[in-house]
Amino acid sequence: MKFNSNFKTINENYLFAEVASRAGAYTKAHPDKKVLKLGIGDVTLPLAPAVISALHSAVDDMAKQETFKGYGPYEGYDFLRESILAYYKSHGVTLDLSEIFVSDGAKSDLGNILDIFAKENTVLVPDPVYPVYVDTNLMAGRKVIFAEANEKNGFLPMPDYKVDCGVIYICSPNNPTGAAYTKAQLKEWVDYANKKGAVILYDAAYECFISDDNLARSIYQIEGAKTCAIEFCSFSKTAGFTGTRCGYTIVPNALEKDGFSANKMWLRRQATKFNGVPYIVQKGAAAVFTAQGQKEINKNLDYYRNNAKLIAECMDRLGIWYTGGKNSPYIWLKCPNNMGSWEFFDYLLNNAQVVGTPGAGFGNNGEGFFRLTAFGSSEVTKEAVARLEKLLS
Ligand code: PLP
Repeated sequence: MKFNSNFKTINENYLFAEVASRAGAYTKAHPDKKVLKLGIGDVTLPLAPAVISALHSAVDDMAKQETFKGYGPYEGYDFLRESILAYYKSHGVTLDLSEIFVSDGAKSDLGNILDIFAKENTVLVPDPVYPVYVDTNLMAGRKVIFAEANEKNGFLPMPDYKVDCGVIYICSPNNPTGAAYTKAQLKEWVDYANKKGAVILYDAAYECFISDDNLARSIYQIEGAKTCAIEFCSFSKTAGFTGTRCGYTIVPNALEKDGFSANKMWLRRQATKFNGVPYIVQKGAAAVFTAQGQKEINKNLDYYRNNAKLIAECMDRLGIWYTGGKNSPYIWLKCPNNMGSWEFFDYLLNNAQVVGTPGAGFGNNGEGFFRLTAFGSSEVTKEAVARLEKLLS
């Protein structure tokens, strides 16, 4: 037996462990000080009442012979896929039901989708970025190259025709930078991918935070995307499903090459390695799309949006450069006085007892930047903003 030696190429995942360890050490040394956490990427508000009610009633279904469910369809129940179809329609995107696959969240599918692509593909990933894209490809032994995201391009790198690649990752609105592509910018990526015969793996996990019409909520709002893009989305941030687990992946029927159909391959892959998302969870997810569900989740989203606004306005007052804050729950700021990411982390922790996430943990280009999130409570966010303002002005 030989282990997969590609695991040696992956960085030790120490970012959040190191953040927790430094914050923990500080708290131990200063038990009288209240440490405020704006580093977390997890939601904090509970599930919407409409979701809870659907979950309860689905549990009751499982208790009765007539409504009990065993294995479900690999691609998800039609009641949920129909709701997803209608949601896309409301954003001007027409899909076929066969193109919608329900998953247990975007993270799994972002990794699993790689089963359908050859190992020889070179993979283009923005730097900095959500680390899953890089690590899943390194595990499989693929060559990963980076699209430089930086202050100059507003952390939104654009295609370079001199670069050849088979697989392209785009995350918009982005984690960690909060930056979001306009429809015009995405059109350039779609044209590039179609020209190069590459596929775009489009992570729309944060689409629900978009409020500007010139930004895309789905890559399929861009002409030509169905021949080159697969889209991943999730109920995690949209409806607080981080612990409940449900998402969906769109694999268009038009995405074909050399006699292969991405859609058929993905269905085959799922049928082999996946046995579907629990019926109960899918019922809860479907409730998100009801009128009541939409009203309730938007109330929660507005709560997070308001936190993001408070942090962004604070950066404006302090004259600190940042991306995100609008159309995103993340605020990605340039560390003041040319401080390094970890240096700024320690400075904030020691002097304002505020915890964020050092940008360097998301890639080389994250050095000198820092991520704050809007997923905390409104009270904690307000207090943290006041402390930041006092310390940095
Ligand atoms: N994609 C991005 C960009 C994320 O930030 C996250 C979670 O933080 C995910 C995907 C994972 O989402 P899920 O909870 O659906 O697996």
